[in-house]
Amino acid sequence: MSETRVSKRMARLSPSMTFAMNALSNELKAKGIDVVNMSLGEPDFNTPEHVKAAAREALDENYTHYTPVPGSVSLKNAIIGKLQRENGLTYTPAEILVSNGAKQSLCNAIMALIDEGDEVIIPAPFWVSYPQMVLLAGGKPVHVDTGIDQDYKMTPEQLEQAITPRTRMLVLCSPSNPSGAVYSKEELEALSAVILRHEGLLVLSDEIYEHLNYVGAHASIASCPGMWERTIVVNGVSKAYAMTGWRIGFLAAPKWIVSACNMLQGQYTSGPCSVSQKAAEAAWNGPQDCVEEMRLAFKRRRNLLVGLLREIPGLEVALPEGAFYLFPKCSSFFGKTDGTRVIKTSTDLAMYLLEVGHVATVGGDAFGAPDYFRLSYATSEENIKEGAKRMAKALALLK
Ligand code: PMP
Ligand code: GLU
Repeated sequence: MSETRVSKRMARLSPSMTFAMNALSNELKAKGIDVVNMSLGEPDFNTPEHVKAAAREALDENYTHYTPVPGSVSLKNAIIGKLQRENGLTYTPAEILVSNGAKQSLCNAIMALIDEGDEVIIPAPFWVSYPQMVLLAGGKPVHVDTGIDQDYKMTPEQLEQAITPRTRMLVLCSPSNPSGAVYSKEELEALSAVILRHEGLLVLSDEIYEHLNYVGAHASIASCPGMWERTIVVNGVSKAYAMTGWRIGFLAAPKWIVSACNMLQGQYTSGPCSVSQKAAEAAWNGPQDCVEEMRLAFKRRRNLLVGLLREIPGLEVALPEGAFYLFPKCSSFFGKTDGTRVIKTSTDLAMYLLEVGHVATVGGDAFGAPDYFRLSYATSEENIKEGAKRMAKALALLK
């Protein structure tokens, strides 16, 4: 075919760097190179047994047909129970929409609410997909820089300054991917005070790392006074229950928002996989000790990796309060060389670490923070030790 034109919409998008670095790592592995993969953020644990049993039962009972578009009634009730029990938030079934992972929930909300030219405030560092989803919707991502010096958290003053008459939404991720920063209830209340001064400003609150919190109780901005009406809460089973492949996430929001997202999903993908819905129901309704076990393992790994990386000259490493990522500052290596290549950006550094050190990470450029890079510690303690050793060796070659 002579013409291979894709839509103009596609020209706005760039590929997901998290998946891209994971793919590069897998390519090297396929060539027989032993790579320590710290690029992709996904729990290395297995899905808990009682969850898998629920899925097997669903299959045996032929629960294999279309479900309602917004998810089965029993799963929505399990989510309503979770939101009440864990977050003190009250929702009705018409205020819940289950999707193919939290990723689709986020995209649903953005596509349903953002018009051409609407501004969406995204504190940087941010998860790679937020600005891409906003661009897909025709909106304008507005980045607010936060760095290691302010614990990677946006202040109320920074928020106030970023708001214009075109601002429609703020995307908040706590605990954060990629920085691991966790906003306290007080900090969320201070941000809420700013938000409530601006009519029509909504918050898309990504709480997918809720349970990977090493400092205390999770706070949802939806529970701050006056914020329930303004907030779209997004969460799912991927991280808390080691269920990334099952693809179940949800959004909880006022009915007018859920109705719009439901219509979109009904034309686009329908309800998510029926068997996965049964599994997710078991995860939310079942015993929760598996979540705590995984949290404690991640906390040990965090402490281990932070300790090892702090010994490497040139890296500035914060102790993150949540999620399973470190986001060290690495700009001291810019302009340095190993004799064959010059490191100019954090992506150059990630490529160098992959090709020379055989450790897969992700450069901070894709996260809107070019002076940093991201490592996922959702891997074994053995891999963490080996990865840190290789990084120390490779970085020491840069002069
Ligand atoms: N939000 C953040 C911040 C994430 O890191 C991820 C992980 N991919 C998601 C959302 C999407 O998760 P899910 O697997 O439920 O689509
Ligand atoms: N959340 C994970 C990460 O950031 C999975 C990859 C993705 O969905 O981008 O690595």
